[in-house]
Amino acid sequence: MSVQPAATAACPCCGTQTDLVPGPSYTPCTCCGHRWRSPQAATLPGYYQNLVARNDPQAPWFRRKIVDRLQALSSLLEHGGVARVLEVGCAEGDLGAAVKARFALEYEGVELSRDRELAGHKLDRVFPTPAGQIEAAPYQLIASFHVLEHIAQPAQELAAWSRLLAADGRILVEVPNRSGHPLLVDDQNPEHLHQFSTASLTALLARCGFDCQALSTGHYESPVYPDSIRVLAQRRLAADDQRSQLLARFRDGFGGPFVVYGIGGDFLNYIAPLAEALQIQALLDSSPGKWGQCIARHVVRAYDPELDGQLPVLVCSIRFGAQIRQHLLELGIGSERIVGLETLYECGT
Ligand SMILES: [Zn+2]
Repeated sequence: MSVQPAATAACPCCGTQTDLVPGPSYTPCTCCGHRWRSPQAATLPGYYQNLVARNDPQAPWFRRKIVDRLQALSSLLEHGGVARVLEVGCAEGDLGAAVKARFALEYEGVELSRDRELAGHKLDRVFPTPAGQIEAAPYQLIASFHVLEHIAQPAQELAAWSRLLAADGRILVEVPNRSGHPLLVDDQNPEHLHQFSTASLTALLARCGFDCQALSTGHYESPVYPDSIRVLAQRRLAADDQRSQLLARFRDGFGGPFVVYGIGGDFLNYIAPLAEALQIQALLDSSPGKWGQCIARHVVRAYDPELDGQLPVLVCSIRFGAQIRQHLLELGIGSERIVGLETLYECGT
């Protein structure tokens, strides 16, 4: 008797080859803990287009989730810089309407169900098609609550979001945490094709070119889905873009040639890899033991007011920056010429 080998498929989140569980049951990924299944007969193409009144706006849990999501979006919007928001799965548009009441921005939505008609009266624009079919100007923020678990190919959906996102844009994604309820093993909701874990959602985002900025669990959708994962992510910069943005900080910080003071570990870590592209005129140190060493095509030497007297000075130590700055002031170097390594590397929070 021959035994048929089990059919396998790649995990839609981490890509690990996994033996498929036949039938409507979820297949568990042994690597990232994701569980997924094929689209159910009840949710074939066209299914969502016929639905209407998916939420009861009078229900207390509806208000609770809108308030929670409004708070999350507000914390991202209150610092400015966001002119256009897209909410994938905007339902009847109540969250968008609440955001627009607080912030002057364009808020557009994607909604396949007939709830899009109501949303059309509240939002700036509502697309009745999947995000993959949208042509629109870039969005600085794409938000999506409890949508990704409905989509058979979540990686394709994230690719569509990535295409619609501004270069410095971010996505805010929320899905049920596993079944969405801590006491429920399996979610039998036929609309749900995925049970994400924190590991599987972050693996999926990473494979789709996103870096997570924040992840939290326990977010409320409804009494039966009280536990959701929420992730804030941005598109990962290519290595060339990382480098060119870092070099731009040096150009903005110095506007021309400069000298480096303090040739230690921080210099080797944070300046030497960029040295060929920087306008470094000299490497300086107060320690005689370092004088004469040749590093990054410069010979380390002491400060010389005749040679270095006009140039800005980069203080190249995070740990000893304050002492070096004091030493430079004692050498008669004006404070306006002194630039700390931290001012070039620090990022806003
Ligand atoms: Zn996996």
